[in-house]
Amino acid sequence: MSTPNIQMVDLLSQYKKIKTEIDEAIHRVLDSAYYINGKEVGEFEAASANYLGVKHAIGCASGTDALQVAMMALNIGPRDEVVTTPFTFVATTETIVLLGAKPVYVDIDPASFNIEPAAIEAAITPRTKAIIPVHLYGHAVDMDPVMAIARKHGIPVIEDTAQAMGCEYKGKKVGGIGEFGCISFYPSKNLGAFGDAGMVVTNDDRLAEKVRMIVNHGSRKRYYHETIGVNSRLDTFQAAILNVKLKYLEQWHQARRSAAAYYNELFKGSDLITPSEASYTRHIYHQYTIRLKNRDQVDATLNEKKIPHAVFYPIPLHLQEAFAGAGKLKGSFPITERIAGEVISLPMHTELTQEQQKILARAVIEAL
Ligand SMILES: *Cc1c(COP(=O)(O)O)cnc(C)c1O
Repeated sequence: MSTPNIQMVDLLSQYKKIKTEIDEAIHRVLDSAYYINGKEVGEFEAASANYLGVKHAIGCASGTDALQVAMMALNIGPRDEVVTTPFTFVATTETIVLLGAKPVYVDIDPASFNIEPAAIEAAITPRTKAIIPVHLYGHAVDMDPVMAIARKHGIPVIEDTAQAMGCEYKGKKVGGIGEFGCISFYPSKNLGAFGDAGMVVTNDDRLAEKVRMIVNHGSRKRYYHETIGVNSRLDTFQAAILNVKLKYLEQWHQARRSAAAYYNELFKGSDLITPSEASYTRHIYHQYTIRLKNRDQVDATLNEKKIPHAVFYPIPLHLQEAFAGAGKLKGSFPITERIAGEVISLPMHTELTQEQQKILARAVIEAL
């Protein structure tokens, strides 16, 4: 079967639709020569803060850096523990371990794929310095119980909002619920740059000031360094591109939501589990992820037929070789381990057509 032009993400077609605006924005930066901290950076930070309904938005170099600098602002380091999910992209745990702290995992809720709030409290110890819930695939974590546990124990919450800029929890955009929200603008994210870029958001003035220093070598005033920082600034070119794209983000979320609804319809009556959308969230479908009992067989068949699809993520973080020292044995998080063996993500982007979706759904159902 041929599948012309079907891709997991179609960045080129999206660019072509807004090429004039993007190219003009890039040329403005070229002509200004303010490649670092040009005015576009501040403009994009203000526009993002406004869109998300938060007080402060601080650009940085990637979503991974956003997580790292947020933890640095909370002075997280050796002997500290951070409670998070084992079912996420590696960056969530990598940054904890890089700072010398220990990830403490909590199993997930199989319906939302997100951390199970009811299981968090048992993972808290006197060393717990943060909780990092991840709004995976663009579906919000059930934040009220997470915040209640965090407040009870006086522990800050860092929302990994890498896949969820614009996702809502009870009518409020995620990222601004905990102490920090960490966003990624990796090209394939719902709001994607043309390279690496990220952002930290917060409503706390003091923490915002601290993050602003940390991303710029721990400095408020040039060559005066108050704290140990890093070089993690949002590039002016990326800010200029993101500024153009942010205006389309709501429209793009709607396109993804429509595509998800159409997949759901195409899969009605078939023997697979379509993604659920809890009543507390507005899912933005960064990924459209289905569950199948015979995933590996379907995966192999789709590979053979060259049907685009992906497995996010095949190996939970507690079983990754890199974290063997900080990890746990197989069987420690049974729901995560089962789900990691059942998921397949299908092409999901703003340029997907119903014709393409029909081809994809037919191929998946046949492979079943
Ligand atoms: C993409 C992603 C990150 C890292 O973002 P980068 O911009 O690629 O560094 C972190 N956490 C999750 C859940 C992600 O999906």
